[in-house]
Amino acid sequence: MTSWVAGIDLGGTKIEVGLVAPDNCIVARKRFPTEDRLGPASVVARIATAVETLQAETPTCGQVAAVGVCTPGPVDHLNGVLLDPPNILGLHHTPLAALLRERLGVPVRLEHDAKATGLGEYHFGAGRGERSIVYVIVGTGVGAAIIADGELYRGGHNSAGEFGHTTLDRQGAICSCGSRGCVETFMSGPWLARRYAAAQRGETPTMQTATTLDGQAIAVLAEQGEALAQRILTDAGAALGAAIATLAMILDIECYVIGGSVAHCGDLFFAPARQAVPRYSFRSVGERVRIVGNQLDTDGAILGCAWLARQALQGT
Ligand SMILES: [Zn+2]
Repeated sequence: MTSWVAGIDLGGTKIEVGLVAPDNCIVARKRFPTEDRLGPASVVARIATAVETLQAETPTCGQVAAVGVCTPGPVDHLNGVLLDPPNILGLHHTPLAALLRERLGVPVRLEHDAKATGLGEYHFGAGRGERSIVYVIVGTGVGAAIIADGELYRGGHNSAGEFGHTTLDRQGAICSCGSRGCVETFMSGPWLARRYAAAQRGETPTMQTATTLDGQAIAVLAEQGEALAQRILTDAGAALGAAIATLAMILDIECYVIGGSVAHCGDLFFAPARQAVPRYSFRSVGERVRIVGNQLDTDGAILGCAWLARQALQGT
């Protein structure tokens, strides 16, 4: 591992490019708006320029030897194609890896963002030294990456880990995916907002519930001790614990690393999750489960992409 690589986190609103040294430190970065409506050529040109500029601006930097990119799913990681993520309309069916490879002349890997971030935490963050982890992202949506015995588990079509859309309550609220009572409807930022607003009015939360505060504002209120906000976060944490108990019963994996914006709530969210796990699992399974916060925050995606870029160099 002696090469310089770049890790790129391409999201619905912004793109972050990180220059990663041979010792896996992010030594320089650039962040700019995605502006996907300008089309693939513009996005590719701006990413390539950012990589070249970072390289030129960093005196110690050698040639960037490979690039890893992650985007919201669905992603065809084998062919490096971004499929049809709902919030990046301008890049649907873009062969992003091939376009970047053509422009930069180096190997490029494309991966789903939750999976790349999970790999980052596994190799460089909260999962270091673990045999297996599940990385769970709780933000605008909820997803997971399963890394078992050092390998990312993809399933037959790279859709393994759609944890946010597994059902916790068959009578629960209708979810954006069309199903009912999905894990996401208990804890994503938008659903925390809906649950808070509905509870204030004594109503049942739905997709249509009008909100006044966002998830972040509710987290701040909970930290300040506001009773309703605390109750909403406690319920969300308990739901997370029940869902993790199910994962633990199926997978027999002990370490659950939680990331995403809602994870910033820390123990207000994690403590009820930890309390709930033994109520929904065998004692022998539940007592081994550890729920921990991520360590790398948004750097996890960059470092996971850098790790994937190095894999590309090794031809694996
Ligand atoms: Zn759903």
